[in-house]
Amino acid sequence: MITTRDLTKVYRSRGREVTALDHVDLHVRPGEVYGVIGRSGAGKSTLIRCVNLLERPTSGTVTVDGQDLTALGGRGNRAPRPLRQARGGIGMIFQHFNLLSSRTVQGNVELPLEILGLGRRERARKALDLLDLVGLSDHARSHPSRLSGGQKQRVGIARALAGDPKVLLSDEATSALDPETTRSVLNLLRDLNRQLGLTILLITHEMDVVKSVCDSAALMEKGRIVESGVVSDLLATP
Ligand code: ADP
Ligand code: ADP
Repeated sequence: MITTRDLTKVYRSRGREVTALDHVDLHVRPGEVYGVIGRSGAGKSTLIRCVNLLERPTSGTVTVDGQDLTALGGRGNRAPRPLRQARGGIGMIFQHFNLLSSRTVQGNVELPLEILGLGRRERARKALDLLDLVGLSDHARSHPSRLSGGQKQRVGIARALAGDPKVLLSDEATSALDPETTRSVLNLLRDLNRQLGLTILLITHEMDVVKSVCDSAALMEKGRIVESGVVSDLLATP
């Protein structure tokens, strides 16, 4: 479902070069929850940003659902972020939720649907269905500031699912949450994975996250994948 081949990203800033990704080969199968774990600076965010076209690779390819994203060309990648996501069949959730405080919960979920050009009534119906799916029907008219962290992330998940993506990317989605809330959000992701057949690629620095929801995982160090495979096998090897 997601394949990267020889994916390399070199940042150049103020005359210095940083190799954030160094020939990364990643294979995420359809319907899998795949975790990428590693310390801060290992290259996890850069990897996920290359999959989501938020970052352009220096070399190598990224394929999602059979489509070579790196072949899309530079200009296509200049479209506003929600548009790229809506188009790409990829949803994304973030550590700090990235909700618009000026909009209601429902308004946040409707945003990608507006960009996709759905009519008012269809948007509302779809948004309410999604809020129902994440257990937030009663909060449709609330503003995000009234919600707990866990509820905010559920809104983020509903918004990410608005374009019916096959792939959900998660950038440290539970890092800002307490352990109990983390568990409930991870359970929701697991349920969505099973119910919708959603493929999930998540990045985390916490082994517990990998243990509790991931089928497969990769360990990153200094821009490289140093270990990868089925989680139960990885945990079995000393
Ligand atoms: P992680 O998500 O694992 O913490 P990142 O992908 O954020 O790792 O960063 C990998 C490396 O790339 C780090 O050394 C980081 O400082 C560097 N880096 C990330 N983004 C940029 C950028 N926009 N410009 C320059 N260096 C960057
Ligand atoms: P995260 O919590 O996702 O690791 P960071 O604080 O590492 O976020 O990075 C925040 C933003 O700054 C990202 O867009 C990243 O690409 C950029 N960034 C990270 N490291 C550097 C760097 N060394 N130079 C320039 N930009 C960077």
